[in-house]
Amino acid sequence: MTRRHRLQDQEIDPEAINAVHQVYRDLEQIPIQRHCTGRADCCRFALTGQTPFLTRGEAFIAHAAWRKAGGGPLPPSDAQGSCPFLRQGRCRIHQDRPFACRTHFCSAAGGPHPRKSVRHLIQQLEHIDSLLGGSGSENIYTAIQRFSRKNKLIGRADSRRRKK
Ligand code: SF4
Repeated sequence: MTRRHRLQDQEIDPEAINAVHQVYRDLEQIPIQRHCTGRADCCRFALTGQTPFLTRGEAFIAHAAWRKAGGGPLPPSDAQGSCPFLRQGRCRIHQDRPFACRTHFCSAAGGPHPRKSVRHLIQQLEHIDSLLGGSGSENIYTAIQRFSRKNKLIGRADSRRRKK
């Protein structure tokens, strides 16, 4: 029997989650030069001026990976706008990081994937999002908050960002 995942009080279709993982695998097949040095600048959104946006399936996977890695309350953003999944300069959910993190909006690492080379994958993520009842990608704070409603710290960080 296929194990169903839980999204708050709802069940989430494991096929949809598998489909998101497949998008991640398909992305790895697209050749691109990268020279990421692991500075994690792209994980400090106040430095880049850009925050990753996640579809619902991506957010589910990221949050599940966080819990698997030890979880705990997610912290509010700091002055650098650090990603809640960043710990001691490392991504704690690297294997399950969202699509935006994989396509590297960080200019130091080589800039983003050309949009035309990943457009079909973005469309697949959007399709999966709608199957899961989403209405488009959301910034990482809002997206993750769906799985951490009791986490008041994340809620406050998100509110601050939306006021900007
Ligand atoms: S999910 Fe990981 S790779 Fe993406 S911004 Fe957060 S810490 Fe960085």
